[in-house]
Amino acid sequence: MTQQRITVIRGDGIGPDIVDAAIQILDKVGCDFAYDYADAGLVALENHGELLPQETLDLIAKNKVTLKGPLTTPVGEGFTSINVSLRKKFQLYANVRPVLSFKGTKARYEDIDIITVRENTEGMYSGLGQVVSADGSEAEAMSKITREGAERIVTFAYELAVREGRKKVTAVHKANILKSTSGLFLKVAREVAQRYPQIESTEMIVDNCCMQLVMNPHQFDVIVTTNLFGDILSDLCAGLVGGLGMAPGANIGKDCAIFEAVHGSAPDIAGKNLANPTSVILASIQMLEYLGMADKAEKIRAAVKDVIESGDRTTRDLGGSHGTTDFTQAVLERL
Ligand code: NAD
Repeated sequence: MTQQRITVIRGDGIGPDIVDAAIQILDKVGCDFAYDYADAGLVALENHGELLPQETLDLIAKNKVTLKGPLTTPVGEGFTSINVSLRKKFQLYANVRPVLSFKGTKARYEDIDIITVRENTEGMYSGLGQVVSADGSEAEAMSKITREGAERIVTFAYELAVREGRKKVTAVHKANILKSTSGLFLKVAREVAQRYPQIESTEMIVDNCCMQLVMNPHQFDVIVTTNLFGDILSDLCAGLVGGLGMAPGANIGKDCAIFEAVHGSAPDIAGKNLANPTSVILASIQMLEYLGMADKAEKIRAAVKDVIESGDRTTRDLGGSHGTTDFTQAVLERL
């Protein structure tokens, strides 16, 4: 069998520390990956004069699977978000953000296990918008939903539900007000739901969904929704299990996939050995599942769970007093 090559973007700020931790763990369970390192973000701007160099794009396309640390997008004119560019460029239409409770975190709830499937290329993030008045006092943006895009993401969510033995898919929308766009999404979601009679299908208006997630999160299993709602709801879900340090995300397209932590480069703690590497370790678990290596993924998940639940060398955000390297060592010892 040919060796799987993974493109690795270590990223900015805490990125290199947490990505290196994940790679040590992947190697420890015998994944036998070959890694091709590529620059993006501030490091790329310094080394290549641009945030997203062509060499990096070529490597992402060539290896098809990428593990990515958080990237800093410099504030100011002329810089579009690197993450949005990558999602568009590689048509990474499905953003899969699972949240899972670990005992030992300071989360408000236990036993949360929710996957948000967010459409990643359309909706309010299609980049269609402008300032329409000469004095800059009026602006507009266009949200675009297509039948094809809606069908693709809702089908993806149901297929994921079937594959992972999930029971329920909730389509989240605002079709009562956004009749054209959210209305089309809901119409397509209802049609797709009929093809999966074995899965319970429910639908919920997004504002009610926010309240329900806070009041009674255990009713949710898989959530499927459009881009903006998914962005917001998945952060809300991360908050239910102890914050962004616990939240991974997979960006999946037809040909390529990029696995990453949901949080940013955390410049306030960069270079201090304080970052919690859990989110990127969980992203690497998603990557293993994507590659059909579920047994190794489960081993790593069990080790991380045991470290967090026992409070053995946990990081400050988890209520511990240890750093990235100690936490990683505690996981490695369990493998
Ligand atoms: P952030 O997510 O980097 O940090 C928010 C807070 O959470 C900070 O206090 C930080 O210390 C803490 N935090 C984040 N990750 C942590 C971890 N693993 N362990 C412990 N604490 C952690 O958000 P921000 O400060 O708003 O953004 C910083 C930079 O990151 C910006 O340039 C932004 O553009 C970028 N960003 C990148 C991504 C990405 O690449 N996917 C996502 C969001 C933000």
